[in-house]
Amino acid sequence: MPALNPVRGTRDILPDENRRRRFVEHVAFDHASRYGFGEISTPVFEFTEVFARTLGDSSDIVTKEMYTFADRGGDSITLRPENTAGVARAFISNGLTQHVPLKLFYRGPMFRYERPQKGRYRQFHQVGVELIGVAGPLADAEVIALGADVLAALGLSDRVTLQLNSLGDGESRVAYRDVLVDYLRSHRQSLSEESLIRLERNPLRVLDSKDEGDRKVVAGAPQITDSLNSASRAFFDTLTGFLERAEVAYRVNPRLVRGLDYYCHTAFEFTTDALGAQGAVLAGGRYDGLVKQMGGPPTAGTGWAAGVERLMMLVDDVGRAARPLAVVPQSDDQVSDAWSIAQRLRCAGFVVDLGYSGNLGKRMKRANKSDARACIILGEDEIARGVVTTRDMDTGEQQEVMLKDIEDHLGRYR
Ligand code: ATP
Ligand code: MG
Repeated sequence: MPALNPVRGTRDILPDENRRRRFVEHVAFDHASRYGFGEISTPVFEFTEVFARTLGDSSDIVTKEMYTFADRGGDSITLRPENTAGVARAFISNGLTQHVPLKLFYRGPMFRYERPQKGRYRQFHQVGVELIGVAGPLADAEVIALGADVLAALGLSDRVTLQLNSLGDGESRVAYRDVLVDYLRSHRQSLSEESLIRLERNPLRVLDSKDEGDRKVVAGAPQITDSLNSASRAFFDTLTGFLERAEVAYRVNPRLVRGLDYYCHTAFEFTTDALGAQGAVLAGGRYDGLVKQMGGPPTAGTGWAAGVERLMMLVDDVGRAARPLAVVPQSDDQVSDAWSIAQRLRCAGFVVDLGYSGNLGKRMKRANKSDARACIILGEDEIARGVVTTRDMDTGEQQEVMLKDIEDHLGRYR
């Protein structure tokens, strides 16, 4: 019965797993705050043009992966496959172009029509940052160091490698494009069909290909590093100098590219061996041409996005949920009193669970199942005397306590 299953590539996230998700998102936001980033939330859908214009009509995302539909008013709408385009659109729509530098953090679901597998879904989550309006390499150093801090705080430093490259400025990229095209043309017989198309439309993207034959050709290709002009080289050297000062370890990977025209200078990716083919956990770069391409003023920008599900799979222990206090009436006659005590304790900041129904045994079973730290047991006689019984669920120790003093007495279980 297909209608009772979630759509392929989507999934339900149950409470234990959501705790991991919140943990990842919280760590990312907490560290972004330390670097002065504020949180932006853009809509999960935009006019298709927002993505089609910025991601380029030859990118995989635009040609194969977008969820696009006509809404009831006839507008072409797309569920966001990533958030940089939406942030750039918001930057222009909200008149923020005079308010740079701007540091924005985001989190939320993204949608891509991909072949689902481990670490690859059709609805997934990202956290990300954009630092808009700073042209120099200090901004790149800052976002990269922030990425490294987040991964370190998640306990992943030993399991990820930072790969770094420079795409240079426009002039360097044009020069590289020429030597690359010459080389690829001389190997066209070994290239995949898809790469032959890329060769004409967007040759840098051939370097990204996952096809075996393409990869062999790419292994011998000229490297962009050799085409960098002196300004681009200086940019990269300054960036690596900043990273070294901050003790951020990196490995230069001349094959790491981003095929779109608005990317320049910095490209980077934190990768892991622990997730099979889905090795990229946090990826980003500089996109100085993006805002202009969307119709805004020329504006520098740099940032990254990280896959939350991939990070969730890597983090070890995120601790347990807070252990509740269980308020347990001995019979249905004490339910109203149980209810008022539960509300009183919640009001005082305790985490409180209720034994809903059944005899005392059944209610205690529920308390056990919810991993209660202590129970507050209400009997008819005790209530009449203004007392309750507390039971420490770890030691089994029971004690009679005046109802009026109960917050103080339970303080140790906070
Ligand atoms: P990949 O090479 O794995 O397809 P990508 O280059 O498409 O990644 P980006 O667009 O750079 O990925 O997105 C940033 C991050 O978002 C990735 O590094 C990854 O961790 C995560 N991500 C991308 N696509 C998915 C997906 N379909 N499911 C889960 N996470 C994803
Ligand atoms: Mg992809």
